[in-house]
Order: sequence, then structure tokens, then C-alpha cells
Amino acid sequence: MYCPFCNADDTKVVDSRLVADGGQVRRRRECVDCSERFTTYELAELVMPRVIKSDGNREPFDEDKLRAGLQRALEKRPVSIEQIEISLSHIKHFLQVTGEREISSRIIGEEVMRQLQDLDEVAYIRFASVYRSFQDLSEFQDELNRLSDAKPVIGAKK
Ligand SMILES: [Zn+2]
Repeated sequence: MYCPFCNADDTKVVDSRLVADGGQVRRRRECVDCSERFTTYELAELVMPRVIKSDGNREPFDEDKLRAGLQRALEKRPVSIEQIEISLSHIKHFLQVTGEREISSRIIGEEVMRQLQDLDEVAYIRFASVYRSFQDLSEFQDELNRLSDAKPVIGAKK
């Protein structure tokens, strides 16, 4: 990597160690030209892709919205908040490992259905029947929000 002092394009790593419980690598580098030393931190980039809606608009991935959608589909079903959180982290992991910067809401919807299929058949059918006709996850979530405005989800984790 370039030297920030003289812009030489060759620097060498003189020390490398794990920091932040192994979540980061701290490197001491030395410039081959001017001998200045500096530190870099390296961490894995696990960003959530942006969501491409069916109308082509982009919006940031909204974890709370997705959680609310799952909770609505699982309303009055024998599924714990913990199980919902595990499904949510599966979905997030799925989105992160795609490595895509943008992802269609349809793909997210399909993944939500895969998770619901494992969790609870009734919730799966509930979600699938509504979602399939909307074909857009955020549209579906807006609808769910509208429907359940009057009845808050019991035991929802905030
Ligand atoms: Zn230098």
C-alpha cells in the first residue's frame, strides 16, 4: 500500500496482530523509501446490500422492518422470539455472503419464505400467499404494518 507521507508505492509490514477480539488486524507498516512508520487496521467488509424494490427504487436494508414482517407472519404461532432472531440472522448472513452491493427485494422475500418454511408452516403459507401477490417485500411489509396497526405484537423485542 502507498506511503501516506511520501506516496511511495512500496511499504512493508513490520508487525501484524489481531485486535478487537480477533475482529480486526492491526498492521505496522514501514515505507521502503522514507522509512516512516504508520498503522493500518483491516476488517472484513460485511455490509448489508441495498434493496432494489420492484419499482426500481433503492432503499437501505431495514432490519427492524424485516423483523416486524417475520413477527407479523408468526403472530399467534408457537415460535419464540429467539427462533425469530435466529432466522433473522440467517437471512442477514445470506444477504452478506452474496457479496452484492444491491439485491432485489424479491430475492430477500424468497429467503424469508425459506426461513418461514423451516419455522412454521402456517406462517409460511400466510406469508407466501400475501407476498406472492405483492411480489415486493417492502410493499408486503407496509401492508402488514397497516393491518396490524391496531394490535401490537405481544412480546415483541425492541
Ligand atoms: Zn514514504
